[in-house]
Amino acid sequence: MSADLRDITINGEVIKPGSRCVVDLNLPGFYTHTPIPMPVHVIHGREDGPRVFVSAAIHGDELNGVEVIRRLLKRPSLKRLRGTLFAIPVVNVYGVIHHSRYLPDGRDLNRTFPGSERGSLAARLANQFMCEIVAQCTHGIDLHTGANYRSNLPQIRAKLDDEETEDLARAFGVPVLLNSDLRDGSLRQAAAECGVRMLVYEAGESLRFDEVSIRAGVNGITNVLRALGMLKSKANKKTKAKKKRARTEPFIARSSTWVRAPQSGVLCSPIRLGARVKKNDLLGLVADPFSDQETEVCAHAEGLIIGRTNIPLVNEGEALFHIARFESAKEVATQVEAFRAGYLEPPEAALETPAPSAEKA
Ligand SMILES: [Zn+2]
Repeated sequence: MSADLRDITINGEVIKPGSRCVVDLNLPGFYTHTPIPMPVHVIHGREDGPRVFVSAAIHGDELNGVEVIRRLLKRPSLKRLRGTLFAIPVVNVYGVIHHSRYLPDGRDLNRTFPGSERGSLAARLANQFMCEIVAQCTHGIDLHTGANYRSNLPQIRAKLDDEETEDLARAFGVPVLLNSDLRDGSLRQAAAECGVRMLVYEAGESLRFDEVSIRAGVNGITNVLRALGMLKSKANKKTKAKKKRARTEPFIARSSTWVRAPQSGVLCSPIRLGARVKKNDLLGLVADPFSDQETEVCAHAEGLIIGRTNIPLVNEGEALFHIARFESAKEVATQVEAFRAGYLEPPEAALETPAPSAEKA
């Protein structure tokens, strides 16, 4: 392999091959004169290779990805990275400050790409992200969670009719893949227009950390970097012996559909993410809290529950359960169970800092 020693430039800073640094992109500041930087971690390998960005919190209340990136950046294997990794733990800085999906102007950043230099605050942020990061990348992984008190079973959404994208989606290593169309104004659409292949990882709920989703996310990104030849494949015997996690077989959903609230009220449902349901199965009850009136909520399709609401207060028409249809929902359900079981060991990565000594009381 030939070593092509190329500098990269971000925000006017030149980064040499074989170096690692954090570059702050300067976003429009607050009216209080408070500056708003967007820190970008750059790991620029000694050897030329793919250039990948990993981004989180484009929706400012979707925090699992922030933790995924924090743990990813601690991985010692990144020292030997081939190619370049841009990791952006917080894209929508304004939203994260306010625990909000949106920007202060009320816009959804993921409907504003590719943005423009003179547009709204959201459009300017999107434009800066495109020009400084996406424009110099070959691939991207964007990390999301369910919105509005909904949680998602770990899943990859991508344009799976593109062969290379499908290979990367499979390499990620979660049981459910959704072939989703590009949505107007999303980062994924804007990236595709620049020839950048992207995966969207959806897992867990907004404003929560979900341990299985986080760990599956860190492993998934590492798997993709391996598939791209940026990290060496596992060779270390010790690691092999320690991790007996079975390889997850991914299944592509044929389609997906939401079951909506038949009336307003309180929702009672024992249905878990990953549950397999058949058509007309009872998923729960929506009850009127001021009378004894109850309405059954039934599945209108066979499949697997890949998303559900967690708030028991629902209005008529609200999305309650997301069902994905598969060739064989049974096989997928088995795979989901195995996948979960593989992540049930103690979360050593979360708490690597040694506990303070108890001797000095
Ligand atoms: Zn999101």
